[in-house]
Amino acid sequence: MSHEGIRIVSEEESRRIAAEDERTFSADAFTPTKVRVRITEGTGVEIEWKDGHLSSWTFQWLRDACPCATCHEAREASGMAVGERKPQPMQILPMYQAPVKPLEATPVGRYALRFKWNDGHESGIYSWDYLRRICRCFVCRAELGID
Ligand SMILES: [Zn+2]
Repeated sequence: MSHEGIRIVSEEESRRIAAEDERTFSADAFTPTKVRVRITEGTGVEIEWKDGHLSSWTFQWLRDACPCATCHEAREASGMAVGERKPQPMQILPMYQAPVKPLEATPVGRYALRFKWNDGHESGIYSWDYLRRICRCFVCRAELGID
């Protein structure tokens, strides 16, 4: 959706997640040492952080965690959590949907990643800070009290 271009800089979801996150992080926690975006395999993103933590997400999850204003508002309106998959409508003859993946991932300065998704969306700026806070490894899930 091209009208979203003007909202590219919005980072509402990032700010909200940071405000709600009571954990304390070192600067190393927001510094990636290795970033792998597995576009060819179609699997997802893996990041190794300077503090030794390892994060990985599927592309679908990251798409559903898009921090742009439009996606943030859509989640607010439907009560969906960051990364939560929208319920898919039942169809008698389900249409094939290509698995979500980025066509392109580009660094934004030294602080973020931006994905150009194969559904046409590209407004979300995924900062390192945001990505680390939305890590859902078992350690982070335990700290956040998510089952
Ligand atoms: Zn978005």
